[in-house]
Amino acid sequence: VIEVEALAKSFGDNEVLKDITEKVEPGQVIVVIGPSGGGKSTFLRCLNLLETPTSGKVAFEGQDLTTLDTKSVNALREKMGMVFQGFNLFPNMTVLENIKLAPMKVKKTDDAAATKRAHELLTRVGLDDHADAFPTSLSGGQAQRVAIARALAMDPKVMLFDEPTSALDPEMVGEVLNVMQELAKEGMTMVVVTHEMGFAKSVGDRIWFMADGYIQENNTPDNFFAHPETDRAKDFLSKIL
Ligand code: ATP
Ligand code: MG
Repeated sequence: VIEVEALAKSFGDNEVLKDITEKVEPGQVIVVIGPSGGGKSTFLRCLNLLETPTSGKVAFEGQDLTTLDTKSVNALREKMGMVFQGFNLFPNMTVLENIKLAPMKVKKTDDAAATKRAHELLTRVGLDDHADAFPTSLSGGQAQRVAIARALAMDPKVMLFDEPTSALDPEMVGEVLNVMQELAKEGMTMVVVTHEMGFAKSVGDRIWFMADGYIQENNTPDNFFAHPETDRAKDFLSKIL
């Protein structure tokens, strides 16, 4: 679904991504891990061109995003749902309205269909009884589940997650990871930046270990955690496990 070729991104003379060539296959769950400041968020943002690469290619469904005009990029970006650390729900809208907004505005879905779909998605994340609540009344875990439902409302082909649980109180992490695990089971293609190693091991198909501007290792979770190959990865794992 996504192909990255010789991707590089610098901010001034800070070379954050140096040379990344990787593929995300349909249905795969890629877990990106690595030290803070290693470029994980920048990489994720390059995948949907929220960040413009300095050089290299990012292809989505065979189309090189870096060569497209803004309109075409926006059209493809709609197929990539993104969930961040902060939930970014619109505070002046109910949960239901938050979910209906993009489908109605961007996809011109009619109100009845958007409402029906929003209720389905809320049921899926276990929050249909909160449809008429406002975001401020939700816990962090609930808000993040709504954010996931909102991203799914656009029927994305790929979901990108950037540390979706790191702003949550510990007791709420599980409910969000469960929703993500369900999504993975249903076959959603996902790229997930996370520090949740349990999730990485049990749900990930591949671990991409990113440090110093490169994907240093691309391996199955079993192999990666049992036999990290690079000193960089060994060092990282010794600090977090
Ligand atoms: P963390 O685990 O802390 O989230 P990360 O791996 O996601 O880290 P990035 O946020 O991608 O790392 O940042 C990588 C580097 O790029 C950092 O040195 C950061 O300061 C720099 N950087 C990121 N975004 C920008 C920006 N918009 N302008 C300038 N520098 C940036
Ligand atoms: Mg980050």
